[in-house]
Amino acid sequence: MITLPKGTKDVLPEESFKWHYLENKIRGVCDRFGVKEIRTPTFEHTELFLRGVGETTDIVNKEMYTFDDKGGRSMTLKPEGTAGVARCFAENGLDNAPQPTKMYYLTSVFRYEKPQSGRLREHHQFGVELYGSASPYADAEVISIARRFLNEVGVDKLTLHLNSIGCSECRKEYSKALVAYFRSFEDQLCPTCQERLNKNPLRLLDCKVEECKRIAEKAPVVSDYLCDNCKEHQKKLCGALDALGIEYVLDPKIVRGLDYYTGTVFEFVSDAIGAQGTVCGGGRYNNLCEEIGGKSVPAVGFGMGLERLIMVMDNCGISFGEAPRRDVYIAPLGAEQYPIALKAIDELRKKGIRADTDISERSLKAQMKYADKCGYRFVVVLGEEEVRKGIVVVKNMRTKEQKECSLDDLSTIII
Ligand code: ATP
Ligand code: MG
Repeated sequence: MITLPKGTKDVLPEESFKWHYLENKIRGVCDRFGVKEIRTPTFEHTELFLRGVGETTDIVNKEMYTFDDKGGRSMTLKPEGTAGVARCFAENGLDNAPQPTKMYYLTSVFRYEKPQSGRLREHHQFGVELYGSASPYADAEVISIARRFLNEVGVDKLTLHLNSIGCSECRKEYSKALVAYFRSFEDQLCPTCQERLNKNPLRLLDCKVEECKRIAEKAPVVSDYLCDNCKEHQKKLCGALDALGIEYVLDPKIVRGLDYYTGTVFEFVSDAIGAQGTVCGGGRYNNLCEEIGGKSVPAVGFGMGLERLIMVMDNCGISFGEAPRRDVYIAPLGAEQYPIALKAIDELRKKGIRADTDISERSLKAQMKYADKCGYRFVVVLGEEEVRKGIVVVKNMRTKEQKECSLDDLSTIII
């Protein structure tokens, strides 16, 4: 048998209601925040991610699904949602509309990772992008969208870790301090970190290797190197979060794995799903739009991993609401009754009722067993006599109560 590719997941018909539940909540919250959906292609020119995500990141170095198309162009399946949105924003001149622009996406994300709990090769993200405001209140708005959504699905125990990695000015000094510190441990670092030391020192703080993590613990912290502007930005953001009653911890160890961040970075972390506990990560990336060839537009956003969110909800016993039940099953008894049953369910469906009949030409016994197993709320047997009189018996499957009604009035009993 052909099996599903490693690191991917099927969503079975019995589970898809969980996804619909989350997607509906996402759309509802975004609507209230004035955030509109943006949809961009599943693949983009590889160049976009090289420039947008950054050539020294894990994503670009190790994790991209890149291929040449038949025209010899290098394409890559989205390894994150932001670069495509930034491309679309610039290409369509969306900066000409009144600013700021608030957008959200729901998308598949592809990364060639070592599959493990909470780490897939195709996962799904809900992301928000706010373009055109450099104010800390825009950061607060984005964070509060994530918090509101999480609260509304009952996930209120995630901790918000907040940090600023400074602007390019404060980062110059900080990078020097980091390099000086890590140099003294150079031979104890993993090969990747040895490379990072020369190419992208900030990434040293993001390593997942135990020994590197231990060394990173005593490294200089960025908060000691922030310029006055960056300090002021963070202070205002904290004030806004306080006013909104959004709790956070200032965590100098949060640096985020993508190149494009400037200033604010944050993560929502769960302690309920093991090592891969970051459910949502985001921050500010004021240079991204320019980096990919557009105008300079300040931007802030987040990406939230929906499989990890579902894991948190499953592990904490948080409900996804009820899977919708089928309303009524009409069981035709005898071949002549089939067209009448078909017509009857068609009328019910027009009225918004979830109605079915037998489409396998099975015995009444088999039909009743099926209807019972599938959890229909009502069952109606449609025999020759019922058709002749135009009166049917409707059985409530929960209470076992039976009621007579005319075939034409079925919907009034079922609603
Ligand atoms: P990690 O540090 O766990 O590798 P990341 O920094 O690579 O995460 P982001 O690029 O910020 O993750 O993606 C945003 C969110 O998407 C993550 O917080 C996580 O919930 C989810 N995510 C990222 N990679 C995966 C994956 N391979 N499988 C499932 N979910 C993922
Ligand atoms: Mg990663």
